[in-house]
Amino acid sequence: MNSPKKDHKYIFVIGGVMSGVGKGIATASIGKILESRGYKINPIKIDPYLNIDAGTMNPTEHGEVFVLNSGLETDQDMGNYERFMGRNLTNHDYMTSGMVYKAVIDKERALYYKGKCVEALPHITEEIISRIEKSAQVNKSDISIIEIGGTIGDFQNALFIEAARMMKMKHPQNILTIVVSYLPVPSKIGEMKTKPTQNAVRQLNSHGLQADLIIARSEMALDRKRKEKLSVWCNVSADHIISAPDIESIYEVPINFEKDNIGDLILKALSMKLGHKNGEMKEWARFVSKVKTAKASVKIAVVGKYFDTGDFVLSDAYISVIEALKFSSYHLNRKPEISWINAKHFEKDKSKLKILKDYDCVLVPGGFGETGIEGKINAIRFARENKIPYFGLCYGMQLAVIEYARNVLGIKDAHTAEINPKGKHLLIDVMPEQKELIEKGKYGGSMRLGAYKAVLKQGTIARRAYGTAEVSERHRHRYEVNPEYIARLEEAGLIFSGRSPDGRLMEIAELSKKEHPFFLGTQFHPEFQAGPLAPHKLFTEFLKAAIARKK
Ligand code: GLN
Repeated sequence: MNSPKKDHKYIFVIGGVMSGVGKGIATASIGKILESRGYKINPIKIDPYLNIDAGTMNPTEHGEVFVLNSGLETDQDMGNYERFMGRNLTNHDYMTSGMVYKAVIDKERALYYKGKCVEALPHITEEIISRIEKSAQVNKSDISIIEIGGTIGDFQNALFIEAARMMKMKHPQNILTIVVSYLPVPSKIGEMKTKPTQNAVRQLNSHGLQADLIIARSEMALDRKRKEKLSVWCNVSADHIISAPDIESIYEVPINFEKDNIGDLILKALSMKLGHKNGEMKEWARFVSKVKTAKASVKIAVVGKYFDTGDFVLSDAYISVIEALKFSSYHLNRKPEISWINAKHFEKDKSKLKILKDYDCVLVPGGFGETGIEGKINAIRFARENKIPYFGLCYGMQLAVIEYARNVLGIKDAHTAEINPKGKHLLIDVMPEQKELIEKGKYGGSMRLGAYKAVLKQGTIARRAYGTAEVSERHRHRYEVNPEYIARLEEAGLIFSGRSPDGRLMEIAELSKKEHPFFLGTQFHPEFQAGPLAPHKLFTEFLKAAIARKK
């Protein structure tokens, strides 16, 4: 039996009208606010798709794949939760329809249902509820905030909404429903329209649930008149309608919500003590004020691949990298100016590389496959030779090693097994234990996923930046630096400043400060552990070097 604390509270966050209006940020912000009142909160993300996890999904279409410490590959909203709440989430805090269905089908095969006919209702909903309760129990939390992906009216999330209704029916005093909706302001009409939200809230009624609170997302703030109109038609009192206009920084959302007293409203509705706002909200506000006041900028060139499908796509595919850059740069009182440069530009015409001189630093993020890889290698070489601070994340580290082997060691055909598996000089390769899995077609099983420890070498940039001898960072890759080449690379000046505790796997490669102001790559993804109140030390070190170059 999964038994959470007695009187554990559950807040369901459901979207109305359309997706992409900030349900995840609203969920994370509510979590932040309630936590600042002294409660232990656990956010849960529900994704209605049938994939078992987000690992197989294309980031160009679906956004970044966020990796937890455990190695679970999840939706990018989990990253927002972690960044807002400042802590690590677990496998219990994420679920997809695929996971739920698979668990039920596996149970059916194991005769768990003892000859019963297994059906969506009640077996799927039971499984959903049991997972929600398990998460509350494991987290020993007071309140769970459950974000149901998609919007009201979708077929895909209907069973999750049904599960919420069943929970409400059993413990009406412990369940709260929040609808995050959108109010368009059509340019031809020039007036904010409430009808789509009215319809969404009524549609939720047809599922047997009543909205307790509405978060009204729009271009502009909601006026009294519209609050009253929504109140009447949606059966929600006007002061339970929170105005959530577009703002410059998502980190301002919790502060904005509190202007409408959302914390008090939620806690009162759940019959909980209001608690005192603790110091962390003040620290948060200080961060937001830095975001608003930073004047001087730092110019960052991100050279990668997923940039050809329109502006909005790329920012989602690299959201953790962008946020990590923001945290460190605001920490240094600088506004980050990020330019997305398609690596393909640097493939045919090397004279184009000159534009990199206009930037304070260059970053190559994680990636897979062949597209743009030679352009990235050319950009890395240019940054190395011209002493422009360079930071490589995962693929960006592997390609820096290849670049160094080709142009410093003179191994012209140095490559990675990912692109050229039959190549003679595979600087980046699979480890022997992975080969077997790959030969059997088990690609999934051959990835290194989640948190692994790294031991840092004395006197290096990495060691100084972290200030500790050992770190734990998250991974998501298949290939590793080939141990056969390490001695040669080190003799030629590349320092492996981070290694796995057994010394076999290279975690960080860098050049000494004498050679280059900052040339460093990590096999892991440091961006997954950066937060507004805890900027990542390597990102900060990188941007310090960038600012020094500017001067
Ligand atoms: N494609 C590389 C690998 O699988 C790097 C992955 C990444 O950058 N996340 O090892």
